[in-house]
Amino acid sequence: MKTAMPRAMTPIARELLLVGGGHAHVAVLRHFGRAPVPGVRVTLLSRDTHTPYSGMLPGLVAGHYSHEDCHIDLRRLCEATGARLIRGTLNSIDTVSRTAEVAERSSLAWDMLSINTGSAPALDSIAGARDHGIALKPIDRFISAWETFERSLTLARSPPRVMVVGGGAAAVEMALALSWRLEQSRRACRITLLAAGEQLLETHNPQVRRLLNGKLAAAGIDVRLGVRVTAVTATQLELADGTQLGCDLAVWAIHAGAPSWTRTTGLACDAAGFLAVDDTLRSVSNDGVFAAGDIAALPVAVAKSGVYAVREGQVLAHNLSQSLRGAPLRAYRPQRRFLSLLATGPRHAVASRGPLYASGDWVWRWKDRIDRRFMAMYALPPLPPAAPGTEPAMRCGGCAAKVGSEMLSGMLDRLAAAPRADIPHGIASGEDAAVIQPPAGQLLVQSVDYFRSFTDDPWLLGRIGAVHCLGDLHAMGAQPHSALAIATIPHGAPGIVRETLDQLMLGARSTLMAESVTLAGGHSGEGAELGFGLSVNGFVAPSALLLKSALQPGHALILTKAVGSGVLLAANMAGAARGDWIDAALTAMQQGHAAAMKILREHGISACTDVTGFGLLGHLGEMLRASGIGARLDLLAIPSLRGARECLSMGYRSSLHGANAAALAALEGFDPVDDATLALLVDPQTAGGLLAAVPEQRAEECVSALRAAGYGAATVVGCTDANLRPGRIGPR
Ligand SMILES: Cc1cc2nc3c(=O)[nH]c(=O)nc-3n(C[C@H](O)[C@H](O)[C@H](O)COP(=O)(O)OP(=O)(O)OC[C@H]3O[C@@H](n4cnc5c(N)ncnc54)[C@H](O)[C@@H]3O)c2cc1C
Repeated sequence: MKTAMPRAMTPIARELLLVGGGHAHVAVLRHFGRAPVPGVRVTLLSRDTHTPYSGMLPGLVAGHYSHEDCHIDLRRLCEATGARLIRGTLNSIDTVSRTAEVAERSSLAWDMLSINTGSAPALDSIAGARDHGIALKPIDRFISAWETFERSLTLARSPPRVMVVGGGAAAVEMALALSWRLEQSRRACRITLLAAGEQLLETHNPQVRRLLNGKLAAAGIDVRLGVRVTAVTATQLELADGTQLGCDLAVWAIHAGAPSWTRTTGLACDAAGFLAVDDTLRSVSNDGVFAAGDIAALPVAVAKSGVYAVREGQVLAHNLSQSLRGAPLRAYRPQRRFLSLLATGPRHAVASRGPLYASGDWVWRWKDRIDRRFMAMYALPPLPPAAPGTEPAMRCGGCAAKVGSEMLSGMLDRLAAAPRADIPHGIASGEDAAVIQPPAGQLLVQSVDYFRSFTDDPWLLGRIGAVHCLGDLHAMGAQPHSALAIATIPHGAPGIVRETLDQLMLGARSTLMAESVTLAGGHSGEGAELGFGLSVNGFVAPSALLLKSALQPGHALILTKAVGSGVLLAANMAGAARGDWIDAALTAMQQGHAAAMKILREHGISACTDVTGFGLLGHLGEMLRASGIGARLDLLAIPSLRGARECLSMGYRSSLHGANAAALAALEGFDPVDDATLALLVDPQTAGGLLAAVPEQRAEECVSALRAAGYGAATVVGCTDANLRPGRIGPR
């Protein structure tokens, strides 16, 4: 399903924005991967990188499945289907400007919008429920909160009281799953199931109810019917009749609620706040907006259930594609009855469909087969690693054309920072060039860097690109001052080009502002693929300048960030890296160097470099040769990003790896080490860490301070050694 042509080669005319990676949108991604609509870029905005498959959640809690078994890796799915993944939480939607406001980052524009963000237990219907107890969804938060609770159990003198509140399938399955989990770990709790109705599982037949009531009783779960919980505190639940029940942990499995943002969009909603759609899954109030799954209110009410969301996915994919082509849409007809397979704790399940029922271990195996088959549809195989010596993926370029000046100046106006006396002419004055007044007695330090995009998210590219570019200034000990930007935006309709440029520059600005760096001007052009760079200016007093040539004997070498971003990005392009590995790498890349440099200075830094394209060994080699000294490294102490070693072991390498590998010749006297350890030494880094020398006696204290400041991977990786030949590296 991997797109045959690099995405950016097709001019982008329209944006299909999918919000939420729920059960329906994974089908849409698959559909558009197989049958893309020419000129349409598909972007998925998702809070989570790994989205859960609801059918397997009770099995996850009971311990039958791993996290990976029952979560779809949206990053890999997007990579394989040619969609962009932007991680973020939707805060609100403006249907007039057609933008989606995203928490902690710039807004996203769309031409067509589809929403599949699911639901969560309606906690606002119970006073105090947002502060006390844990909701079943989002499931990751539920599981980590439950694990924290479980750890506290060993300390408890009497078995704590867990109240599962809700009477539907999710509540019953979860109570049984929790009970089974506790039994397996030999921990004790008193579990009570509290339901407002006169019976549990009201939508199921009496035999199914009987079977499950039997399972609850056998598991020692106390069931209380006809009780409505109205409030909760840290120690008790309050019922509608005023009764108070002691409770150590409330688990909310009540009816689904809509998020609060739906009512602020102007889109038609039902009384509970779910988005009202017609039978084609299109908003009844806006032709350009679709919704599916729990968030949607269909003309015929259906249960908030993953089964419907999955089925809607097929119709939604078809209708989004048809709508983008101006073709007729298809109606979605929900099934009146569907097969439910309810897990009962151990590997045993109850089947229910209309008046039919069955139970047994075989039902669980049946359910397991169905669920795993579903998951297999979304676990797309990665591309194999490139054979050694083969050319890296095709690179395009050379067809740049200037982005319309009106567009550029409009964007630059919005980016203009507060006036600065030392920049008499910056963006706002519209001169041909920026004019900067250097501080008296200081040296001007300049650097420039530019790269092709390593992510589909232009905001992240701008943000990380700026960290990368400023790294050169920090490594020289300079205080960053101002920057000029250069950007290449993929060909597309003017609105799409403007949007991409905005995202890119807003991302860059977020990094620059954090370091009080002023964007003083820029140039942008259209080209085959997204690219970004900055020319950066900094100032430093001559006495504070840090040079690579200033390494001294008896100094420890500290690395402030883990290595491995090169191989992770390479494996990501092949669909072989796990989404959460890439999330962690992108987070590390966004971390700036200003705080680290301050700490390194406080601990007597003598020389520094930033670890980027040549990898750790390449940049260390530059320092050693310039300083006429050797070094010792502790190869096993070198911190690596999560998943980097796995990707190297699978055979993935960055396309720069081959050229960098020559630096390995500097190593001498090491015991044999595995290939992954060696490969990490020359893995090219984007926005990598600083490699700095501080006096040995202050190194540990310096590392502690770095870690306390958020550089969790900071480590002493080696030391200088004047007894080794210049440029040589031996074991520490
Ligand atoms: C414990 C439990 C067990 C269940 N078992 C079953 C079952 O066996 N069978 C069944 O059919 N149903 C089951 N359900 C119900 C089922 O989980 C839901 O009906 C189903 O998940 C809804 O699917 P969806 O596609 O609408 O959204 P979801 O699957 O909830 O997906 C929503 C996605 O949107 C993302 N998202 C949410 N908010 C935002 C935001 N603001 N911005 C960006 N992204 C966002 C989330 O990260 C998530 O990836 C169960 C529910 C629970 C709680």
